[in-house]
Amino acid sequence: MKLSAADTSRQRQRQACRPRRMSGLMSETKRNTTPADGPGSVDFGYQQVPKDQKAQRVREVFDSVADKYDLMNDLMSVGVHRLWKRFALGQTGLRPGQSALDVAGGTGDLAAGMAGQVGEGGFVVLSDINAAMLEVGRDRLLDRGLMRNVRFSIANAECLPFEDESFDCVTIGFGLRNVTDKPAALASMHRVLKPGGRLLVLEFSKPVLPGLKPIYDVYSFSVLPWLGKRVTGDSDSYQYLAESIRRFPDQQALLALMREAGLEDCSHHNLSGGIVALHKGFKY
Ligand code: SAM
Repeated sequence: MKLSAADTSRQRQRQACRPRRMSGLMSETKRNTTPADGPGSVDFGYQQVPKDQKAQRVREVFDSVADKYDLMNDLMSVGVHRLWKRFALGQTGLRPGQSALDVAGGTGDLAAGMAGQVGEGGFVVLSDINAAMLEVGRDRLLDRGLMRNVRFSIANAECLPFEDESFDCVTIGFGLRNVTDKPAALASMHRVLKPGGRLLVLEFSKPVLPGLKPIYDVYSFSVLPWLGKRVTGDSDSYQYLAESIRRFPDQQALLALMREAGLEDCSHHNLSGGIVALHKGFKY
């Protein structure tokens, strides 16, 4: 029997969830013997780290910057991240009464926008693997009076703890880059989408404007770590940001990953010359 893309993505999802539960039971000896550049390794920026250590390294990055995360976003992008997010929100297709999930939602910019779109008859789940980021998000939503239709969930994108076919729209903004097993995360997000629902992936991508790349490289590897040091006292996290962007699949490679996860009618739209791209895919 031939398996559809959706069947294989569900299979991958089941396989992806199993080792995650097991890895918590792994002995220290087993962990320490995993070769950092062997088949069990993944990239963490430009470094190779054992697969079961990447999530912890990523957690340390966001623990370190959570308090200043929003300020740094505004400074680093001179506010343009708000336009990228506004564009993404314009593509959700959400209507009053519907449901949405913001994966790796951090401080909740996309969740806040979607909460307005679905209104009080609908609901939005803001989820993230990192409690520190989610706490900042919860406080911001509270301050803006947007708590009525927003729920919170600490969740790993690779293994989302929601029923199949729960959401009309799933978003992940600047989060997929940090996830260890990206195909598992895409399969997980596909699984929780309702038929007819859509996934939006907003992420740094590959600049396509001629002449932009060298300027962008200098900015990323010199200005960002310097700014990170001044504002958060942590340059390493912003060095990781610059490196992880270079390691992330480009526009076409991400489209291919989305199709493999079972998403259909996949497309992308470059923003700011391809520095960022919004990828969209549907579940039918
Ligand atoms: N979506 C927010 C935004 O656009 O401002 C936050 C993006 S922030 C750059 C990346 C977020 O991904 C962090 O809050 C981090 O905790 C979260 N994250 C990293 N790995 C994750 C995973 N495996 N599952 C869920 N969230 C994850």
